[in-house]
Amino acid sequence: MTAPQPEGTEATKSPGIEYFPKSKPWRMADGALHLLGMRCPHCGAKAFPARSVCHACGRDDGMETVELVPTGTLYSFAEIHAAPKGFPTPYVIGFVDLDDGVRLLGQVEHRAAELGMDEKVQLVEGVIRTRGDGTKVVSYKFRRRSS
Ligand SMILES: [Zn+2]
Repeated sequence: MTAPQPEGTEATKSPGIEYFPKSKPWRMADGALHLLGMRCPHCGAKAFPARSVCHACGRDDGMETVELVPTGTLYSFAEIHAAPKGFPTPYVIGFVDLDDGVRLLGQVEHRAAELGMDEKVQLVEGVIRTRGDGTKVVSYKFRRRSS
C-alpha cells in the first residue's frame, strides 16, 4: 500500500524504495556516488543541485550538467538525537566541501565521536530514513575515507 504520488509514478522505481530527491541526480561508479550538478560556462562555478541561474556571476544561459567529484572534506557536523519520524537516532549531519568546491549538507555514516574536523569523506548511496509504511528513502550520504 503506497500513498498516491503527487508527481506521478516512476517506472524505474523499485518497490519499497524511494529516492530523495525523486529525480535521483546521481550515478554510481566504482562504489562511489557521482552527483549530477551544474557548471557555469561563463565563470566556471559549480553547484548542486543544478540550477538555471549561476549563484556566482548571475548569468542564466548555457548552464551545463556536470558530474561532481565523489570526494571531499568534512567542514562541520552535528549529531542529531531528536529527529523527525523515520530518522534513526542518533545520526550525524555534516557540511562537506567536495574537492571541486561545492559545499553540500548530508548525513554522515558515523557517530560524531568517530569524526574529526577536516575528515576526508566520500559520497555513497544509502538509506536516510524509513517511512511509516516501510518505504526506505535512499539518498546520497557521506562515509569516512580510509586512505
Ligand atoms: Zn557563473
